[in-house]
Amino acid sequence: MTEPTPTPTDKEVLGWAHTARFFTTAAQLHQLPETGLPEVAFVGRSNAGKSTAINTLAQTKRLAFASKTPGRTQHINLFHVGPKDEPNQLWADLPGYGYAAVNRDAKQRWQQVMADYLQQREPLRGVVQMVDSRHGLTDLDRQLIDFMAERIYGGEISLLVLLTKADKLNRKEQAAILRETQELLGSYVLTEHSDIGVSLFSALKNQGVADAARQLHEWVAPRPSAPDEAEAPDSSESPTADR
Ligand code: GDP
Repeated sequence: MTEPTPTPTDKEVLGWAHTARFFTTAAQLHQLPETGLPEVAFVGRSNAGKSTAINTLAQTKRLAFASKTPGRTQHINLFHVGPKDEPNQLWADLPGYGYAAVNRDAKQRWQQVMADYLQQREPLRGVVQMVDSRHGLTDLDRQLIDFMAERIYGGEISLLVLLTKADKLNRKEQAAILRETQELLGSYVLTEHSDIGVSLFSALKNQGVADAARQLHEWVAPRPSAPDEAEAPDSSESPTADR
């Protein structure tokens, strides 16, 4: 019998997240490396607090701001996480969306890149979506979720929505947006296989940081069997199958 793995402490999961370091950048999807590591994508509307959240999780000041360098804003930046010689997760910082100044062509290109990435990127294990807690899920946020809905339904990809800048809301408002977002997500991507989480997050107040790190850390492990595999048919070869 194997001992159950002890739950890691906040210090352990934060220590793990702190190992995040720049790996590489890709201007196009086909340039993304095949590393065999489980991948976690960070997505969100421009200004939702994505860079700040990544830096806060990594407890590093400038890790994610490479993405803000002019000319790099449409790139996918990748970070290694885990032991130095043996990273065990890849973080993918995807371009922010909904930036008003971006022209129509750029928007369409972005949509295609995001849709392709979310639908096809094989090692994708989890998506962390940053949503400004003062606005809640916008149409664009829901559109993004729609791109990967099929994979969420089947439990292939987990989704964690971080309601950012929670320090700007009072407790009552925090509770209200949390419930509203949970209900909204529950109404359209919840199935018996889907794994969806919603948390309040504040980089300023360090709220929800350890919980988010813990969730990411859980995604190091291979995803639970896909439903098709989990529901293996009753083995007809087994003499005890037709009980
Ligand atoms: P990104 O475009 O999604 O990467 O957003 P940024 O991380 O650059 O954040 C956008 C703005 O929101 C910046 O002015 C941040 O200082 C601010 N911001 C980000 N996180 C927080 C937070 O937890 N609390 C508050 N009050 N402001 C935040």
